[in-house]
Amino acid sequence: MQFYIRRSTYVLVIISLVTLWSCKRTPVSPQTSCDYPTITTTSAHLLMGNPSGAKKDESQSDNYLMEKTQYALSYNRSQLISNWAAWHLGSEDIGSADRQDDFKPDASLPSGWDAAKPNDYSGSGFDRGHLCPSADRTATQADNSATFLMTNMVPQSPDLNRNTWESLESYCRDLVQQGNELYIYAGTFGSGGTGSNGTATKVKDKITVPEACWKVLIVMPKGDDDVKRVTKTTQTIAIWAPNNQDLDNSWKAYAVSVDEVEQKTGYDFFNHLPVCIQEVIEKPVFQ
Ligand code: MN
Ligand code: MN
Repeated sequence: MQFYIRRSTYVLVIISLVTLWSCKRTPVSPQTSCDYPTITTTSAHLLMGNPSGAKKDESQSDNYLMEKTQYALSYNRSQLISNWAAWHLGSEDIGSADRQDDFKPDASLPSGWDAAKPNDYSGSGFDRGHLCPSADRTATQADNSATFLMTNMVPQSPDLNRNTWESLESYCRDLVQQGNELYIYAGTFGSGGTGSNGTATKVKDKITVPEACWKVLIVMPKGDDDVKRVTKTTQTIAIWAPNNQDLDNSWKAYAVSVDEVEQKTGYDFFNHLPVCIQEVIEKPVFQ
């Protein structure tokens, strides 16, 4: 019996082997970069990232970057509230300045933009809820006063503002007292919430009432060169809390992963860190 293999069969076998070999050498999904992205951070509060790519550019008025000494904002001109606030929290931020309670319009908005006024929320059934909390900025009177700018306020249900939201704010300051420093992002999502006078989508027909408020933060022991100190074991915490009057008092009931907040908002948190680190630290849910 004759055993005969055509030359074309040899060629096919060689092509298959070469293909297999090159597949083995080239990973199927090579996007898990461990490189540090090139960034030009202007604000210390945005060291870990600018989740919505906010810019100080009046043509992108619904994602308008406002950098203050005390915090940074992505302001939304159509909604008259901020999409998010970002701030670094360390022991140096916590002092003995009194709560100023001097709510005021933000005079640094571009001229011609409507600004929320302190009494706009009166009788609405929603609190003027701080994004960057008053008690996180008590080193000086000026620092505390800056948290009362109306661009740092969002219409929050009293239950959210005074209980659930406050419980995470206190927890964050406890972490600082224990020797940590934090990078915190707090923001809004959607429209339509329920305050003490019922459900509404706007306050005073112009200020958006968010459907939910979220928070994303990263916790690390106090130190220097913070971006480079974040590893795959660095702790993150995230919550997603509905803006209504029927909430659990503890923020822990609303814990989610950072990835979940990213999926819901379309933002990318911690985008100044390598993707291979983000992938790991954005998965856990606090428990
Ligand atoms: Mn992610
Ligand atoms: Mn991310």
